[in-house]
Amino acid sequence: EPSLSLKMEGFQAPATIAMSMRARELAAQGKDVISLALGQPDFFTPRVACDAAYEAALDGKTKYPPIDGILSLKQAVQQKFKQENNLNYALDEIMVANGAKQILFNAFMATLNDGDEVVVPAPYWTSYPIMARFLGGIPVDVICSEENNFSLKAADLRKVLTDKTKWLIINSPSNPTGAVWSKQDLLEIAEVLRDYPQVWVFADEIYEHLVFDGQVHYSLAALAPDLKDRILTANGASKTYAMPGWRIGYVGGTKILIKAMMKIQSNSTSGASSISQAAATAALHHCANDVEEMKKAYDRRRQMMKEAFSNMPGVTCAVPQGAFYVYPGIKGCIGKTSAGGRKIENDQDFAEALLEEQYVAVVPGHAFGLSPYLRISYAADDAVLEEACKRIAKFVEQLT
Ligand code: PLP
Repeated sequence: EPSLSLKMEGFQAPATIAMSMRARELAAQGKDVISLALGQPDFFTPRVACDAAYEAALDGKTKYPPIDGILSLKQAVQQKFKQENNLNYALDEIMVANGAKQILFNAFMATLNDGDEVVVPAPYWTSYPIMARFLGGIPVDVICSEENNFSLKAADLRKVLTDKTKWLIINSPSNPTGAVWSKQDLLEIAEVLRDYPQVWVFADEIYEHLVFDGQVHYSLAALAPDLKDRILTANGASKTYAMPGWRIGYVGGTKILIKAMMKIQSNSTSGASSISQAAATAALHHCANDVEEMKKAYDRRRQMMKEAFSNMPGVTCAVPQGAFYVYPGIKGCIGKTSAGGRKIENDQDFAEALLEEQYVAVVPGHAFGLSPYLRISYAADDAVLEEACKRIAKFVEQLT
């Protein structure tokens, strides 16, 4: 009978999606569910981007777009890299894809041979190890502990690098912790990388605009220009401009890798939606103020989450400096029993019990490679967050 490929073994849907599916089920049963499980902005896409899409559609910009992206968007991305990241990329060092996710897929597909190692600092965005494995790589975790502000320390990196290492992933500001890695840490990481000339670096900077408390985001490729040709600087419209549904990501990197990635994209999805590319071009040119406004809202919510979690017994919460997540530790809750009689042995139990009893969906830390924690997205309306925090506090207080 027809069967699935061997590749599908061990290829799971991300845990973030499993949690939101259960949340949807409960909601369909009429429960008042709050989902803080998904990492997407709650804001509408800025008007100017929507208008640009509409105009592009009416203007006949509806043919197959170039594989690497329309010229106006590539130019806007080039200018963005130069102005915001101090990075000079030629136009043939830039490509556009269907989200940063496709950039990652293209990059791994273009480079990984079976058995190649992909170093993934944990906690990590779940797609990194899943995609690495899917494409023949072996993900290798390196823990970024809470004591180290969830940042990667050069000494820890050195311990996991081998002559089989093909990639190092860097994601600052981080999903799931909100950590922003310091310039010093990045410089030290660059120093280690100099000893491993075969290693590519995927710098996922998709949350770069969401940094708080005066923190500064640094691009590794700008801090270590000698490594620039080994680094892919990936970014996109999803988080910065509240455009996740438009599916636009962009990347700067060395020509040979970009060319290989284009080959893959041309044979899989072709270029990203022409309409979406028009919208993203407008966003890059005209939405700096919208970004600032959204950032203010995220910052306000971040303060609110910090307050709420610092008062919960058994819960600790580092103050995230970026992105739109908090990653509270729940060590003090392990071994207890919920009001509904569920034993909390780990963060998965906690998240499940919280969803079943208080109808709040969050994602357990084990999905991101570091337990016992929860990832809570605060990209949601203030009132919704307030109610969610109340319910979580109630859940925690009732643990015995
Ligand atoms: N990288 C990180 C760290 C993310 O958290 C996400 C989205 O959740 C992505 C990439 C995917 O972005 P895109 O919508 O551009 O595919």
